[in-house]
Amino acid sequence: MYGLMQSQQLLISTLIEFAARHHGEGEIVSRRVEGDIHRTNYRQLAGRSRKVANALDTLGLAFSDRVATLAWNGYRHLELYFGVSGSGRVLHTLNPRLHPDQIVWICNHAEDQVLCFDMSFLPIVQAIHKRCTTIRHFIALCDADALPKDSGIPGLRSYEAWIASKPATYAWPDFDENSASSMCYTSGTTGNPKGALYSHRSTILHAFSSALPDALNMSARDAVLPVVPMFHVNAWGLPYSAAMTGAKLVFPGPAMDGKSIFDLIETEKVSFAAGVPTVWQMLLTHMQATGQRFTSLKRTVIGGSACPPAMVSAFNDTYGVEVLHAWGMTEMSPLGTVCTLKNKHLTLPKDAQLKVRLKQGRGIYGVDMKIVDGAGAEVPWDGVSYGDLLVKGPWVIAEYFKGEDQSPLVDGWFPTGDVATIDADGFMQITDRTKDVIKSGGEWISSIDVENIAMAHPAVAMAACIGIRHPKWDERPIIAVVKKPGVEVTREDILAFYDGKTAKWQVPDDVVFVESIPLGGTGKMQKTKLREQLRDYRLPTT
Ligand code: AMP
Repeated sequence: MYGLMQSQQLLISTLIEFAARHHGEGEIVSRRVEGDIHRTNYRQLAGRSRKVANALDTLGLAFSDRVATLAWNGYRHLELYFGVSGSGRVLHTLNPRLHPDQIVWICNHAEDQVLCFDMSFLPIVQAIHKRCTTIRHFIALCDADALPKDSGIPGLRSYEAWIASKPATYAWPDFDENSASSMCYTSGTTGNPKGALYSHRSTILHAFSSALPDALNMSARDAVLPVVPMFHVNAWGLPYSAAMTGAKLVFPGPAMDGKSIFDLIETEKVSFAAGVPTVWQMLLTHMQATGQRFTSLKRTVIGGSACPPAMVSAFNDTYGVEVLHAWGMTEMSPLGTVCTLKNKHLTLPKDAQLKVRLKQGRGIYGVDMKIVDGAGAEVPWDGVSYGDLLVKGPWVIAEYFKGEDQSPLVDGWFPTGDVATIDADGFMQITDRTKDVIKSGGEWISSIDVENIAMAHPAVAMAACIGIRHPKWDERPIIAVVKKPGVEVTREDILAFYDGKTAKWQVPDDVVFVESIPLGGTGKMQKTKLREQLRDYRLPTT
């Protein structure tokens, strides 16, 4: 027997229509690439999202065709979020911080048909457009008069001119909620970047669960500042959960320095902000230097990398802002855990409470977790035993885009590459990482790519890249090098060899010459031993 409830597909178009109807005056404020502050609301945004959907139809795009973006956080990007996915196409957010060669690889792998980009990324698009073989339309997110005449990009048009004459009405199509809605590539794995392909259903379920009080606690009374970029797992889903709750949205555009973020928080009365530790470190440094205080900020979600204890204390104790330490992955849409306290923790002494707050948090409804030992057996939730962390749930990937039938799952569970403990109250804490990648300022650096470049240098016999703790960037890569016998090579020669081969921020901070690199029985480099060997090493202070 079926239930007798109406069957309605969970589609992203319903979010913007809900926000327009119930929170039409809800504000969306953006610091633009142009430098000014732009104001709109959900009603106007819905109209322009419908214009985008109409404009995409005129390009003759098919259902599920990919529309890529290279853009900062702002209202035009948000219109694409709803217009692209709502009309049945797939929004593909590209990470502009990657090396142009990687962006080309990702565009071609995703078979993007359209690329919409902020004018600050014009030089990247000029450098790559000829090699992006599937892109048929290039659209600059600007007014018609800001469009350069001689960009060299064939058929380049302005977004504003493109949507201007299109109707602000649109009959959003009804289709299977399991259809793809957006995609995001992660470099947080070995080999080529891998595409996580989200569905309408997974996106909406994730928005429901992440907005709950013990998760991000979002409401129409909030003003939300996603500093986390919209090209990082859909800004942790905040554009969707904000529309679902009618929260005001405040977008920082390209300005992520401490002063710009502080000014935006104060002028727009931001109550809730989200970002990686590096961004909050810049904000705290600015506040400590100027002696300024928050007047509206109530809580901030910090994730992407482990939140340092000093940061939790500074926000909580000095500024009265609650830190929600959170953990997730591109493969998880991304939210998995949020560290919100239970009643029993509220009466704990400060130090004991801080210990709990530093954990990555407890699973939100929809995400199941387990930790296993080397043989795959579950280890107990006692807060001490640690194991490989596996997850499953309706917004966790089942496979990667064009994954050639190679399921990443183990008995239906997704292995995160993180090592963790879970305590009896269900609070998970990451203790290590098994994946061979380094996270710097919230962005991934593949140690294998860093090693491969060094290994191509004629004087290098062997090279191993490891991450070293860094106060601002969380981790920075260094490369340990064994020279070929009888050959002379300097640190500077090796660092110069990286020029043009990878993004500048992916170049190691230092070269350490070693006699040998520890190898295991199968010839694999033993990085734990190397880390141990270099435990007294300090990064250069430049
Ligand atoms: P990404 O797919 O880029 O979002 O990266 C996901 C990975 O970042 C996780 O598997 C962890 O290794 C790391 N990560 C995310 N959040 C945290 C956190 N709060 N603490 C420690 N590591 C984190």
